[in-house]
Amino acid sequence: MGVLALQGAFIEHEHMLAKLGIRTVEIRQRRDLEQHFSGLILPGGESTVQGKLLHDLDMAEPLRQLIAAGLPTFGTCAGLLLLAKHVEDGDTHLALMDITARRNAYGRQLGSFFTKGEVTGVGTIPMTFIRAPYIESVGKKVQILSEVRGHIVAARENNMLVSSFHPELNDDLSLHRYFVGMLS
Ligand code: GLN
Repeated sequence: MGVLALQGAFIEHEHMLAKLGIRTVEIRQRRDLEQHFSGLILPGGESTVQGKLLHDLDMAEPLRQLIAAGLPTFGTCAGLLLLAKHVEDGDTHLALMDITARRNAYGRQLGSFFTKGEVTGVGTIPMTFIRAPYIESVGKKVQILSEVRGHIVAARENNMLVSSFHPELNDDLSLHRYFVGMLS
């Protein structure tokens, strides 16, 4: 599994995948995209920084093409923002998934909280939100997987899975397991 390792919580995702017995490769530069990997995680962090690095390192376009060609991709938090076609209060980056995301939707300072919520096909799982976005609306092909406090916090469109919370910051492996299931 490839894990975008430019900035943010990529190590935590690698630990989750290791617990599932999945080998990971860190994607740090353009030529890392040429090796074989069966799926990709876009971690949380800061979408403006990640977007700028993707652009400066000439990685945005090859990455966009890989995902558009069907590479299973899981974007968490900032990774969700990288994938969104529309972003309120922020720039678009890869612009592949037909969702409108609102950046820092819960507020900048006090917007971090923990809860448990149900994800369709996964079960009830712990959810850690850190200056998280939520999804304001989705296109017809997007399946809503979870809503918390009246807002969409997880969704899937074909090969793309997103969550506005950080599943890698709790012990529960079930959302990562669900994503691994998208690789076959
Ligand atoms: N607020 C961050 C952003 O705009 C996302 C926060 C996160 O990934 N925890 O990128």
